[in-house]
Amino acid sequence: MYATVLDRYPELEAVADRRVAAVRTHLNYEQVVTRPKDTLLFRRTRLDEHLARRAEAAGVDLRDGVNVRRIDFGPDGVTVGDGMGKEFRGSLLVDASGANGPLFREHKAAARRVLRYRIVSVVLEAPCPNDVIDRRMGIDEDAGDTFYSAFLETGFVGYGWLFPKDGMINAGLGTITEMGNGLKERFHWFLLRTGFDDLDTTRLRAFTIPTTVLPRLWLPRVLFVGDAGGFVDALTGGGLCNGIRSGEHAAATAERAVVSGRFEKDTLEDYERMCSELRKALRLRTAGLYYFAGAVKRGLDRPFAVKALLRGAMALA
Ligand SMILES: Cc1cc2nc3c(=O)[nH]c(=O)nc-3n(C[C@H](O)[C@H](O)[C@H](O)COP(=O)(O)OP(=O)(O)OC[C@H]3O[C@@H](n4cnc5c(N)ncnc54)[C@H](O)[C@@H]3O)c2cc1C
Repeated sequence: MYATVLDRYPELEAVADRRVAAVRTHLNYEQVVTRPKDTLLFRRTRLDEHLARRAEAAGVDLRDGVNVRRIDFGPDGVTVGDGMGKEFRGSLLVDASGANGPLFREHKAAARRVLRYRIVSVVLEAPCPNDVIDRRMGIDEDAGDTFYSAFLETGFVGYGWLFPKDGMINAGLGTITEMGNGLKERFHWFLLRTGFDDLDTTRLRAFTIPTTVLPRLWLPRVLFVGDAGGFVDALTGGGLCNGIRSGEHAAATAERAVVSGRFEKDTLEDYERMCSELRKALRLRTAGLYYFAGAVKRGLDRPFAVKALLRGAMALA
């Protein structure tokens, strides 16, 4: 799914830390399968900076560093405020506040109550020289052997990853919340097994990741995009490409709403329609997560069986 970033937004290659050609998957720290997967790896600050400059070039009046604490709906618009005197008024609000933002908490919580599984992850992005990353991961840029690595373990619903960036390694581990106890300890073990146990882990961060698109992606004068709308791949935790796509659909809908002066159901439901393909694709991924979690819990833990499954199933991941 990440590969579509390149198909859709080739200009992003210039912003990426690295472009790798494959994903190398391991089971119990033994390499099982390498699958071609043309992938851009970003340092998030660089990507955000690029998107912000692009938005400004398109005429956006960007105000950075304002924390939205209040939202008021009036008969002809919506006002947001930081609770300390700053206010901004518009016709339509696009909520891009991420998975765990405080905005419209009830609306988002209602969608997640029905979920069987939620994903919790820990991630560390730490400085590491490129030659050290390449040596430890076995990457040979000169021979064109570039990849990122995924790590599965029998009996564990989740995966670990190593994303080689430019002078940075991004290492993480994600699982379903019911297996989340002791995730940090497991992560330290993961770093040890992959040879990255000398990283500075003081900036280790924990996240929960949504695994469902909101059943309703709009409220009067509001659209939900990116993680705030739940546009995340439940199998991999990836959400950048889908988030950008949802933003494009929201922009097209917002334009129509502004031109027609209508900010209610008849116009905003267009956004639902435009996102329906994306929703379908992500539902399949959620079903995949349920299948994977169910199989592991039912005891699919024999390495030879899991290896066979991985060799067959990686094409879908
Ligand atoms: C551990 C981890 C690893 C991941 N790895 C990948 C990957 O390899 N590939 C991939 O495609 N995706 C990955 N993802 C998912 C990806 O990070 C998200 O899908 C993506 O960041 C979603 O972008 P977003 O802009 O919707 O939300 P966010 O990136 O969460 O941005 C939301 C922004 O809104 C701001 N905000 C929140 N509340 C307010 C408020 N009240 N007022 C003002 N601002 C507010 C926040 O400060 C933040 O800047 C990963 C996620 C995690 C947690």
